[in-house]
Amino acid sequence: MLAIHALPALRDNYIWLLDDGRQAAVVDPGEAAPVFAALAARGLELAAILVTHHHADHQGGIPDLLAAWPEIEVFAPASETIVACTRPLAGGETIRVLATEFEVLAVPGHTRGHLAYYQPGRLFCGDTLFGAGCGRLFEGTPAQMLASLSRLAALPETTLIYCAHEYTEANLRFACAVEPGNQALAERCRRVAELRARGEASVPSTLAEEKASNPFLRCREPEVIAAVRRQDATVDDGETAVFTAIRAWRNDF
Ligand code: ZN
Ligand code: FE
Repeated sequence: MLAIHALPALRDNYIWLLDDGRQAAVVDPGEAAPVFAALAARGLELAAILVTHHHADHQGGIPDLLAAWPEIEVFAPASETIVACTRPLAGGETIRVLATEFEVLAVPGHTRGHLAYYQPGRLFCGDTLFGAGCGRLFEGTPAQMLASLSRLAALPETTLIYCAHEYTEANLRFACAVEPGNQALAERCRRVAELRARGEASVPSTLAEEKASNPFLRCREPEVIAAVRRQDATVDDGETAVFTAIRAWRNDF
């Protein structure tokens, strides 16, 4: 089993370092310096880079990493412009990284070509699903994002969710505005506040936690529907309409 380490990067990104004790892979290296530092500290060689989408905070470190490790594989969305991609992916493939198989999932919404990488027990989902939130819709439609999130929500509930940003506290403030009566959400707020007060990451979460407290995975819940309708009484109770409304509400929150 690979060990996973969180490398804080840029303002609020996490680069995930996958470590087999000898070699490493990184997911979404927005900058190179934290990766070089972690490799040196652990005595690891870099073997691969996995990229979820094209934004600079997810791929900005690739040129410097390749200058040091020119032979390595760069797995990335085929339909997006990624520096030095060697393995263009569309979703549906199975890739081998550090002798471990990962399923590649197409999860459009934040960007059109956004990918997630799944191995049983773990999901690396970039800016699609966040702790108590989801990515902004820069390129995709609400219906696409909802379909992507629904696909992720169908994974086993014990799956650890390795997202690419430390946004959980801000997301939880919004979630509490949507569902002030949600007990699981109130408990999560307490747990996350403690972690952050100690300077620890609030992620990975489990899929079970997200399903219990992330409003974007709860568009069929009566309390979520009622909250949306208090904002805008014209919203119908279909899942896509509710999702669209809470995503727009979150943008202005
Ligand atoms: Zn992004
Ligand atoms: Fe990002």
